[in-house]
Amino acid sequence: MNIIKTNLNFGNLTKRSRTVRAILHHSAGSKASAEDIHRWHLANGWAGAGYHFLVRKDGSVYRLRPEWAVGAHASGSNSDSIGICFEGNFMTESMPTAQKQAGKELVAWVKKKYGFTKVQAHRDVQATGCPGTNFPFAEIANGSTGTVTPTPPTSGNTYTVQKGDTLTAIAKKYNTTVDALAKASGITDPNKIHVGQTIVIPGTAEKPKPEGDTGVNTIIRDGQIHARNFAMPGLGADGIPGPRTDEAKVRVLQQAMRLDYNIKFIVDGKWGPNSEVLLGRHTVRKGETQYMVTALQILLMLNGYFCNGVENPGHFGAGLEAAARQYQADHGLVVDGIAGYNTFKSLIS
Ligand SMILES: [Zn+2]
Repeated sequence: MNIIKTNLNFGNLTKRSRTVRAILHHSAGSKASAEDIHRWHLANGWAGAGYHFLVRKDGSVYRLRPEWAVGAHASGSNSDSIGICFEGNFMTESMPTAQKQAGKELVAWVKKKYGFTKVQAHRDVQATGCPGTNFPFAEIANGSTGTVTPTPPTSGNTYTVQKGDTLTAIAKKYNTTVDALAKASGITDPNKIHVGQTIVIPGTAEKPKPEGDTGVNTIIRDGQIHARNFAMPGLGADGIPGPRTDEAKVRVLQQAMRLDYNIKFIVDGKWGPNSEVLLGRHTVRKGETQYMVTALQILLMLNGYFCNGVENPGHFGAGLEAAARQYQADHGLVVDGIAGYNTFKSLIS
């Protein structure tokens, strides 16, 4: 196991007194070097990179925060864990073999060194999608020693009912409620589900809460990164809503309309009569692919709703529909999973 040392300068760190588990993450951005992560986390106001290790796509492994120090990667779980980040966005990407192999070796090495068997995904300890639905968790967590509970069978943001399942058990598996599953899946009688039936796992609404050293909502932070790439160069990604993020919301929607309608239209972050006319009665719904769907994905994230990733142009799938329904239900809108005038206006307000 070759671990590459890095030369990063950290602020004040605290010594970790117990080490009983490892927690696995993805970087969410497709490309992330040790220096990138360090810079991003410094920009959050943290002491530096919050993870202890980084596994890159080419299978190289880097040290980030000193191994002895308390990390900043999973709020409430930092004091007794090692944080490992895998470069990539495994909501949409699949993991290269070299990276998977290196991850298995690293996890096995850490388990042996500290004498624990517990390996968790970030989503096991916080309301987040990290490290993504395509992350080969069972394989990496198993490494060459120890055992883990297999992750439930999923296909994107849906679950196929198996023999013996109840909606209560499925809700428990996904840390949600029977009501939320029934609503997202259009089930009228929660006692009547059948083998092979598709259950939609609703988007997770994550309210701003502390992670690491300071308050940061990882969904909003990822939304800010997408908003920066899509419509607002220079937008900071601190996971904290504010005036710049509000401006980004308007820019994201304006940019999507400009691209979809293929017109010259000024993206200025100010919602005026021209924007109003353009939005008009436009709607996007399940099955459609366009930039307005991209806008919906980013806007939901900027509002703290997990929606299974962002694409350019966006494809409106079951996960996005579930997140849209959840948002509508939480904001007193008509719950139809279709994003129209009222939903977009609410998302940018
Ligand atoms: Zn994470």
